[in-house]
Amino acid sequence: GINSLSDLKKLEILGHGHGGTVYKVCHEQTGMIYALKVLHEFGNLEDVEYQRQAMSEADIFTRVDTSEYIVRCFCVLDCGFAEGKGRRGDLCFVMEYMDMGSLHDILRKNKKLSENVISGIARNVLKGLQYLHGMQIVHGDIKPSNLLVNGTKGEVKLADFGASRVVINRNQDGTNSCMGTCAYMSPERMDPEKWNKDLCSGGFAGDIWSLGLVVMECYVGRFPLIQPGQKPDWVTLMCAICYEENVKPVLRMASVEFQSFCQRCLERDWKMRGTVEELLSHPFVNNRSDQSNGVMELVTQDSRD
Ligand code: ATP
Ligand code: MG
Repeated sequence: GINSLSDLKKLEILGHGHGGTVYKVCHEQTGMIYALKVLHEFGNLEDVEYQRQAMSEADIFTRVDTSEYIVRCFCVLDCGFAEGKGRRGDLCFVMEYMDMGSLHDILRKNKKLSENVISGIARNVLKGLQYLHGMQIVHGDIKPSNLLVNGTKGEVKLADFGASRVVINRNQDGTNSCMGTCAYMSPERMDPEKWNKDLCSGGFAGDIWSLGLVVMECYVGRFPLIQPGQKPDWVTLMCAICYEENVKPVLRMASVEFQSFCQRCLERDWKMRGTVEELLSHPFVNNRSDQSNGVMELVTQDSRD
């Protein structure tokens, strides 16, 4: 097992997120490669909210390590005083290394994916959500950067359970700086008056909404609710989430199955929205012969265009 950070050699930086950095590391005794996510200054006592969230992320991560659709977390290390490797109070997650990075990274390079690939991605995400929802866990932050891809195995997995991240990523003036994160939130979560996990039956439907946006983004190669040339501000985003017709204008050229799948995910009323079970048997994800091939194609193909 991995007992301390000093067993791990940092090879490169894989990416930065809010409050953390992810490294590619090598476990020197075994030569195994892992991804190490370091959440900084976990021990900062003034930031109670951040601690609460990091703890819940650690807690959930260690509970959900039995699904092939969830990025495995092998252990959580308190970095303690490890000289030069982590700072006091940093919290470190030793994760399965996903060799193609996130869907966000892939979309930046490939721009647009084929429906076959998207179908495979959707199915993997739904399987992950089926597992989480079955454990009464709402992911809460489904977006391209939290969907990681293992190209060697043709796998897409869910990562990141820091669902209440939204709360802490405020600018000093109280405005939301979380365009990236809030952008994938469902209409019911946009309304602070109405948003109540009990009233919205746990909030599971919010994950489905986010999945709908992710698959549309894979198809058009950009965040689908803000049109090219439109100002990416909060008001534009809110209007799109809460009032506008979002699927049809973007997916005009797509198959009927894909359009219908997105409509079911992006049903504005959460009570009417498709559930995990319904969507797993939807023709868009269910009728294609070999789903894992869908994702495998991602490795070999460059782009739809
Ligand atoms: P947020 O803080 O909102 O979650 P984020 O998802 O971009 O934002 P991180 O979760 O810290 O931030 O991840 C940053 C990047 O690191 C990802 O986009 C991905 O490229 C890379 N990454 C994260 N985890 C892994 C992993 N297990 N294997 C390979 N790359 C990873
Ligand atoms: Mg993330």
